[in-house]
Amino acid sequence: MNEHAVVIAGGGPAGMMLAAELALAKVDVAVVERRPDHVLVGSRAGGFHSRTIEVLDQRGVADRFLAEGQVAQAAMLAATVLDMSDFPTRHPYSLGIWQNQIERIMAAWIAELPVRIYYGREVTGFAQNDTGVDVELSDEGSLRAQYLVGCDGGRSVIRKAAGIEFPGWDPTRSNLIAEVETTEEPPPGIRHDATGIHALNTMEDGRTVRVIVTEQQLGTGSEPTLHDLSEALITVYGTDFGVHNPTWISRFTDMTRQATDYRAGRVLLAGDSAHVHYPAGGQGLSLGVGDAVNLGWKLAQVVNRTSPESLLDTYRDERHPVAARAIQHTMAQAALQRRDERMQALVDVVSELAVMDEPRKRLAGLISGLDVHYDLGDGHPLLGRRMPDLDLVTADGPLRAFELLHDAKPVLLNLGAPGGFDVAPWADRVQPIDVSYKGEWELPVLGAVTAPTAVLIRPDGYVAWVGEGTDVGLSDALATWFGPPAAA
Ligand SMILES: Cc1cc2nc3c(=O)[nH]c(=O)nc-3n(C[C@H](O)[C@H](O)[C@H](O)COP(=O)(O)OP(=O)(O)OC[C@H]3O[C@@H](n4cnc5c(N)ncnc54)[C@H](O)[C@@H]3O)c2cc1C
Repeated sequence: MNEHAVVIAGGGPAGMMLAAELALAKVDVAVVERRPDHVLVGSRAGGFHSRTIEVLDQRGVADRFLAEGQVAQAAMLAATVLDMSDFPTRHPYSLGIWQNQIERIMAAWIAELPVRIYYGREVTGFAQNDTGVDVELSDEGSLRAQYLVGCDGGRSVIRKAAGIEFPGWDPTRSNLIAEVETTEEPPPGIRHDATGIHALNTMEDGRTVRVIVTEQQLGTGSEPTLHDLSEALITVYGTDFGVHNPTWISRFTDMTRQATDYRAGRVLLAGDSAHVHYPAGGQGLSLGVGDAVNLGWKLAQVVNRTSPESLLDTYRDERHPVAARAIQHTMAQAALQRRDERMQALVDVVSELAVMDEPRKRLAGLISGLDVHYDLGDGHPLLGRRMPDLDLVTADGPLRAFELLHDAKPVLLNLGAPGGFDVAPWADRVQPIDVSYKGEWELPVLGAVTAPTAVLIRPDGYVAWVGEGTDVGLSDALATWFGPPAAA
């Protein structure tokens, strides 16, 4: 039986991001992926928003995605674009890039890191005890791990086997999604009616048409046929545009659920296995990447025995509210897609409000993921929020703040007198650096904040402690987040 410190079930975006985070922290990690390779049939998600670009930038790989995608103002509420080009971030936009491209780029990235991937195998169950987890595979083999993470999507076997409840709302509507060829030119743009949203768009190759059509009746099952697609199109458009030669037909619904817990002993959940919702707003993939980046360093520290297991409880405490908020938002977005005349009146009212400065910023902050605030107690507004990617100056020259996070290690930025802090007991874990910064400190949605004299940054880019002229609280923050001090 092969042994790994961590086994991840599922190599979608959440599983691959988590694998990268663990590998960067030198944890022996393996991914079990049901598919024979990383090719994703069908385009699925259409991109991600600003915070996810930042998270990838923190690891030095954002350029790989930016090079293949198209930046655009794509944070939307109903028909209103929430322009965020004035947000204080290096990436004040969303990135349009298909999920099959995203997964290809991620797979190439983790191939450069020491990540073992078992392709063409499924996790079928597990048994855990105090010392580890036996992970059962479909080929009757098994793996042994200290921890197992279910990144195996909305129908998660891991979540079910762990007995974690998944309450929420049953589906009320279904959409067919497909990539096909047509004999008639499809009409451009999006159409709304009382059932929901419909759209046909010719893809980059000029031949394939991506179709999304809301079904009149709630459809079930994930393997709809070309006939189902044809009928659904005729009902909405009066023609099926001669759809033929499908390369992908699938169905998704507005089923909305969230796991009550993200951990059962040595088994954890991340991504769609922990939360599913209608894709309106395009936040699902980003939420999974956010989960992975929050969990990765914590799990690494527990596996490497620098932190107690209780650190893992902060994963659920921090990430559950983020997904719950996004879920509420997607339910509102989904409701606004159903447009009879009364709903259209509501869409018009909401749209009028959404372009005003305050609502625009709040909504764009949520959709972009830039407003995430982990509850780390009272204090400076930076506490629990993302560290901005400032242009710093060090003794060796200019440096972007995110460059300090490429290795996924904690950083103590000292913006005051050089050598002002003694972090010797954490020297093996935390990188202290003296920097200067003359510009404004500005946060998305909140605006300008008081300049701190020091900032302790977690590997996920969130601020764990803020210095305001003293080191009060620094030792506690270091011990809370990065483990007890080493003996002198
Ligand atoms: C039409 C549509 C449009 C969308 N648009 C967007 C968008 O624009 N932006 C956005 O952010 N999100 C979007 N989403 C949501 C996004 O696709 C998902 O949230 C995202 O794929 C979730 O990633 P994941 O890694 O958690 O799960 P998945 O992508 O579902 O990956 C799970 C992986 O686990 C594997 N697997 C499953 N079971 C097992 C098992 N037992 N053993 C081994 N392997 C297993 C699967 O093969 C798969 O590779 C969209 C979704 C849909 C359907």
